[in-house]
Amino acid sequence: MTYDLRLSTDDSIGVFDFLLLNFEFAKMFIEPFRSGTKKGWMEVICGCMFSGKTEELIRRLKRVQIAGRKAEIFKPAIDVRYDVNDIVSHDAHRIRSTPVDNYYNILLLASDVDVVGIDEAQFFDTGIVDVLEQLMLRGTRVIVAGLDMDFAGKPFGPMPALLARAEYITKLHAICVKCGDIANYSYRKAKIDDQVLLGEKDVYEPRCRNCYYN
Ligand SMILES: [Zn+2]
Repeated sequence: MTYDLRLSTDDSIGVFDFLLLNFEFAKMFIEPFRSGTKKGWMEVICGCMFSGKTEELIRRLKRVQIAGRKAEIFKPAIDVRYDVNDIVSHDAHRIRSTPVDNYYNILLLASDVDVVGIDEAQFFDTGIVDVLEQLMLRGTRVIVAGLDMDFAGKPFGPMPALLARAEYITKLHAICVKCGDIANYSYRKAKIDDQVLLGEKDVYEPRCRNCYYN
């Protein structure tokens, strides 16, 4: 179904059309709680470095806050690149978050919240999948952001398991610094083989498949 959203002066969008339009918008998954029901589900936002994952997570969580719902954001305590208590995206929008050493703490800390956000999920181990399943069974909406591949192009940590269970997946892309095409890979400039090496543009750059392998 399509709608003509142009402004008109001849009152061509009547009350019925207006209600129908709102009904269609209400069905979008991003608007969580239909009246009377509280079912949990998982959204995963994935992609390479510099693809805007954290910005997208923040955008969704701010909408949750605007809607008057309670949200808690968690990230692994390992990721302290910017700030201990805030998720900080590359464009400096920020939202409060809680670093956790042990993801079982999320079950306690999120006991009365409607929406749980997880940033940098790739740094947790696969045990976080069961924790998030428990949250969803309680009726919590879970929004996960994380790197789907590590610098070697291999699936990263729990991300494959999370992607398999998610109801909704958003894959974001960066721009290849070599050719300007769509970038899918996080190329590591430093010759270090550890899977986890925290860094930003000093250490990583987004590349397309061709520029990554050649
Ligand atoms: Zn390229």
